[in-house]
Order: sequence, then structure tokens, then C-alpha cells
Amino acid sequence: MSEQTPEPGAVPATPATSGNGGLPAGVKPGATKILEVNDIQTYYGSIQALKGVSLDVYEGEVVTMIGSNGAGKSTTLRSISGLNPPKVGSIKFRGKEISGLAGHQIAELGIAQSPEGRRVFPRMTVLENLEMGAFIRNDSQIRSDIERVYELFPRLKEREKQKGGTMSGGEQQMLAIGRALMANPKLLLLDEPSLGLAPVIVDRIYEVVRELNSRGVTILLVEQNANYALDVSNRGYVLETGRVVLSNDSTSLRTDPEVQKAYLGT
Ligand code: ATP
Repeated sequence: MSEQTPEPGAVPATPATSGNGGLPAGVKPGATKILEVNDIQTYYGSIQALKGVSLDVYEGEVVTMIGSNGAGKSTTLRSISGLNPPKVGSIKFRGKEISGLAGHQIAELGIAQSPEGRRVFPRMTVLENLEMGAFIRNDSQIRSDIERVYELFPRLKEREKQKGGTMSGGEQQMLAIGRALMANPKLLLLDEPSLGLAPVIVDRIYEVVRELNSRGVTILLVEQNANYALDVSNRGYVLETGRVVLSNDSTSLRTDPEVQKAYLGT
């Protein structure tokens, strides 16, 4: 992990280690690093959104980023997926530098993002949206993968011919996740899957997140709802104003008084 310059009074960002060969606390011994984000700085025009973010994700993990509005969580995901490449720093996916690649090249390597605000194609049907998610693929499994998405979200099967834009918020969220899954990703980036949804829908979405992870999908999850995020994840990073200020295994973060006060409403 590279050095970061915390704001005065910020908690050091150096991750707690568990003594398992220097791996961060919460990482299983022998796990392979799939994503390595090193000191990235990302801008929107002249606005610097990320001031040096570093984080790692190991194969098979669910890792979460929590933090308030504007902390830089979405921008970190957008930096990884190539939508807003960093100006400074490095991003390695399975050992290969990806920070200079175009978005479609990053997708082809096996990273898919389910964006905040759902962003399904509103005039396309559910089925067409799912097919679009498979645009980088050229194999014979696409139809069976659509069926797998329908198994996860039976609601989408019922609405197969309905236009994406006419569906409820929860259904659009399911569709956005389903579409990302159609790329058959090795790493799924999930941006605020609970945003604006009724608790019963959020529960279903998080059941699916667990199920996907148990099937072997590695997930980097951005959430404002830290309760859900820390429940489902192995490890977490806390972001504040474009910097990582704390990282640890999720159980330790849950019991950290600062995290409880700032993000868990306790
Ligand atoms: P939220 O949950 O509100 O999306 P976040 O932690 O994901 O919060 P980001 O969306 O990554 O935060 O925003 C980080 C910073 O970048 C904020 O200061 C935000 O105002 C700024 N920002 C984000 N998108 C843009 C944009 N399109 N143009 C200019 N500034 C932006």
C-alpha cells in the first residue's frame, strides 16, 4: 500500500494486518490479489475527486467502500472501469496495468460495473438490456446465462418484454445488476445497489450479492448504507474527501466507535 497524506486528524489509512503473511486482516491465507489500486488521483475537469486512493481486492472476496456523499466512492469505481481514468497512480487487474485502457478493453478483461442510478437502457426491453450486457461475448452460453439471471431475479423474467424505463426502481436495479452479470465478470463493481429502494427489495438484492459471491464472483461494492455493506463484505475501506482514512475486516469496522458514530447511526 502506498503512502497517503491524510487530512489533519484523519485516521491512518494503513490497513490492519492479521499476521497471515502480511495480508490485510480478513483476507484468507494464500488468496490471490485480483485488483490493486495504488495511489490514484482522479479529476473531473479541474476538480480533484480522488487525492490518492489505494485498495486491494483478493479473489473471492466482497470488499466494500463506505463513506459520506462526495467521498469519492463512485469515482473510484469509475476510475477502475475506465469511465474516469485516473491522472496519477496505477490500477492492476490480475497483475496487468489497466489504468490506460479504454472502457471496453477493461470490460473484456473481466470487469463489469453496475452503475449508480441504475442507468438501464430505457427504450429497450428487459431482454434486450440483458443481451446488451453480453456485447463483449461471443460464445454459446448467452441464452443460458440470461436464464440464470432470471433465476436470480424471477421478476425480470415476468417483465421480459417490458421496456426498461417503465419498470419500478427496484426492478431497474435488478436489471442493472443482471446486465452487468451478463458480461460474465471476474470482478463485479456494484455502485449503491440499495439507493432509493424499499427495504424488502434491498434485502433481495443483498441475498443475490451473497449468492453471486458464493458462486465465485469477486465483488467491489460501494454503499452509503454501511449496515448492509459491512454485513455482506469481508473487508472494507472508509473514504473521506477523496482519501482512504481507514481499512479493516468488516467485523472490526462494525465495532469501531468512529465508524459506528459516523456511518452506522449508533
Ligand atoms: P455519492 O454517494 O454522493 O455518489 P461518492 O462517495 O460516490 O458519493 P463521488 O460521486 O465519487 O462521491 O464524488 C467525489 C467528488 O467528485 C465529489 O466532490 C463530487 O462533487 C465530485 N464529482 C462527482 N461527479 C462529478 C462530475 N461529473 N463533475 C464534477 N464533479 C464531480
